[in-house]
Order: sequence, then structure tokens, then C-alpha cells
Amino acid sequence: MATGWGSLLQDEQQLEELARQAVDRALAEGVLLRTLQEPSSSDVVSYAPFTLFPSLVPSALLEQAYAVQMDFNMLVDAVSQNAAFLEQTLSSTIKRDNFTARLFNIYKQVLKEGIAQTVFLGLNRSDYMFQRNADGSPVLKQIEINTISASFGGLASRTPAVHRHVLNVLSKTKEAAKILSNNPSKGLAQGITKAWELYGSANALVLLIAQEKERNIFDQRAIENELLARNIHVIRRRFEDVSEKGSLDQDRRLFMDGQEVAVVYFRDGYMPSQYSVQNWEARLLLERSCAIKCPDIATQLAGTKKVQQELSRMGVLEMLLPGQPETVARLRATFAGLYSLDMGEEGDQAITEALAAPSQFVLKPQREGGGNNLYGEEMVQALEHLKDSEERASYILMEKIEPEPFGNCLLRPGSPVRVVQCISELGIFGVYVRQGKTLVMNKHVGHLLRTKAIEHADGGVAAGVAVLDNPYPV
Ligand code: ADP
Ligand code: MG
Repeated sequence: MATGWGSLLQDEQQLEELARQAVDRALAEGVLLRTLQEPSSSDVVSYAPFTLFPSLVPSALLEQAYAVQMDFNMLVDAVSQNAAFLEQTLSSTIKRDNFTARLFNIYKQVLKEGIAQTVFLGLNRSDYMFQRNADGSPVLKQIEINTISASFGGLASRTPAVHRHVLNVLSKTKEAAKILSNNPSKGLAQGITKAWELYGSANALVLLIAQEKERNIFDQRAIENELLARNIHVIRRRFEDVSEKGSLDQDRRLFMDGQEVAVVYFRDGYMPSQYSVQNWEARLLLERSCAIKCPDIATQLAGTKKVQQELSRMGVLEMLLPGQPETVARLRATFAGLYSLDMGEEGDQAITEALAAPSQFVLKPQREGGGNNLYGEEMVQALEHLKDSEERASYILMEKIEPEPFGNCLLRPGSPVRVVQCISELGIFGVYVRQGKTLVMNKHVGHLLRTKAIEHADGGVAAGVAVLDNPYPV
């Protein structure tokens, strides 16, 4: 597979001029982040980091990732409705991982009281890398699926114009035209709109849960703007606000500042540091309500790495999606090797293999948001330490995907323009809405390509490692 832009990457002066043009276009298009120094204010903003050139992605893999997205939507939805599966799968993890245990505790409380919510909304993003086969051909392998706060759908709607601009400056108009249009924020808003309509109260609001210190606010605003254009009003509140001013009525309808809430959209609440005692109480209140949570607590649990690992076990997909062998085959084709570390022979075997070939594995705790996984020597040390302790059940092991690197420039405020060796991660946004037992919407709504320098094993855009990109289909 050809991997790059060849001679264009050699002319340093041209790269610098292109970068200046690209950055100005990115700012003009709204590819923005708040700054590290002032994350609560939009007075001073900068561009979100991005690649100078779109990165080459095989069309066949792009199509495969799109084609399997509806299957993943159905799978996540099926897991979220299967209390026995969630309970069994997470039983060893929740003994050792306090965060998952607290989420699970809320889930149990809601189940016990009875689920008031009748409409369910999933906005997820399934992420992949392109594994290099023995014969050099790339294969689509899933890294994970994000069922809560899947981000960058808004900014990804705006980056195609930037890469078209770069190619047009180079008079590469044919190439510019090959950059796919992309509008995940519109599709995500369509999902929220459908859920809001089914809730069926004309004056009810969408409650967006976010922090005050939010650098990625423009990404969220893109969805808010789409909703407002449909005459659906969004209020942004913190968990703290919910605990102070949120309430339920007798029918468990949710009110914020006296206004009824139809949909709760979480852009917060996926890592331990985001929860104080007060915030956990707020989360419980939201979950108990009949408002449509995106995601509800069961769907958040369905996105844990432990669930991902159990899904790869023989027979599990068949159990969750009975009578759908083609769906099962499409899903399984994207699975990398995933290994349980629960106490016992199977876990012992996985640890032995990882210690024998550390470069081929990744050790993952039950965390989201980047920067938590362990690789190489760090993984070895952790495994040696965990080997004989029940704590190991709070982790999973995964086969490490090794894509073929290529050259590109990663543009970041304050960094020099230079060509580095990179790898990409493709995400597909999925949206579904279920009313009772009926799936009334199930679709894919766009993509996100993120690219990072090969020296970083882990981390996304928010973590400061990867940058925004666009697939250039080949
Ligand atoms: P998080 O929930 O923190 O985003 P991920 O599973 O997505 O966790 O891992 C974070 C990053 O680590 C990914 O974006 C990817 O760059 C890298 N990574 C994760 N799993 C693998 C893997 N199996 N092979 C290679 N890189 C991986
Ligand atoms: Mg990730």
C-alpha cells in the first residue's frame, strides 16, 4: 500500500507556508479548542491540533468500518439490556476496581427500583487501527468502542475543508475533491432529536452535563447548535448543579431549575476524577429519572474494556445476537486478540504469553480518556506485580496492533513544522434509538481520523497525543 505524500514532505519551506495557510483556515472553519491556560473561557482560543495532510486509508477498510457500525450499535444495545451478562462479566472486575463498582452499584439500584426510562439513545464511536498482516496488507481491528462522551464529531465536521484547502493550494484539485464530506455532529443531533421527540413533551430540554473547565467546548457546541436549529433548547450544567438544583417528581420526571428535562447528554462522568461524593449522588438522581440518558448506566457499563474482552469469547456474540450469523461474522472479523486476567489457568496462560513477548500486548485497566494503558517494560513490571494478586482481574490484556507508519506533519500551537512517522486510528460514529423493545433508529453518522507520532503508544486528542486528520481514500 502506498502510504504517503512522497516528495511533498521533503520541501521544508513549502511545508511551512502550507502550515501557515492550513492553520488560518482551521481557525476560520472553527477547528478550535480553548487553551490549557484558560479552559473555562472562550476569550482566547486556539486551533485544535491537526495533520497538515490527510492520511491515506484503504477505501475497503473505511467501507468495512462503516458497514459494521449498525452491528455494533445493536450489540451494545443488546449488552445493555442483558443484566445477567453484565453481572456475570463484571463480577470479578467490580471486586477490584472501585470506579466500575460504583457505576455497577448505581446500575443495581436502578434495576431494583425499576427502570423509569422507556426510550434509549446510544451515541457511540467505534475505534479501529489498521493491523499490518504478514503479507503487508492492512486489516481493520477494533481498539475499543466508546459508549459515553464520544467526542470530536463536531470538529471532525470542519476539518475536511482544511485539508481540501491545503490540496487546493498545491493545485491538487482532483485530490482535494476526494476528501470525504463528514458531518457527525448533525447525525448525533438527529439521534438526540429523535429521542427528544419520543419523550413527547414540547417544552422539555436537553441537559448537557459538562465541566466548566472544558477545552473541547466547540465540539460540544456544534451539536448544541444543530439542536437549537431544530428548536430544541440545550442547557449546560455540571454534576454539582444537578445535585443542587435537580429534582424528580412523583413520576420520576427530571427537573433542572424548574424545567423538565427530556434528554441528558453526558460529556463528563467517564473517569474517577470527575466524581466527588456529590457528583455520584447527582449521577444516581439522573439515572433514577425517566429522562433519556445518553448513555444510561447499563450502556456505559457495556462500553467497559472487560465487556469488550468477554464479547470476543467463543459463543458470546451468538448468545447476544441469536439467529444473526452474518452480523456475528462481521463483528468478529474486527476483533483483535483479547484475554481475561481473571484468576485461573486462562489468565495465567495470558500472563505467561505477554511476559514472553511484551511488545505484542497491551495491558488495559477499566479506564477511559487515554493515557491509562501499559506497554513494554511498564507492562512487564505491572504484570510481575499483579500476577499473584486478585487485583489483576481489574485489567484485561489485548493484542497490540501494529499499523504501518507513514510520514505527516502534526500541527500544534507553538510547535515547529516537521515531518514525523505516524499511525492513525479511525473512529465511526454510531447512533441508535430504542423505544421499549423496538429499535426505531440505527445508523452510522460519520467518521473521525486521529493520527499520532509512533513514539506515543497511548492517548487521544484530548490527552495531547493524537491530532485530527481526514482519511484520504485509496
Ligand atoms: P481509552 O479508553 O483510554 O481511549 P483505548 O483502548 O482507546 O483507551 O486506548 C488508548 C489508546 O492506546 C488508543 O487510542 C491507541 O492509540 C492505543 N491502543 C489501545 N489499544 C491498542 C492496541 N491493542 N494496539 C495498539 N494501540 C492501542
Ligand atoms: Mg480510546
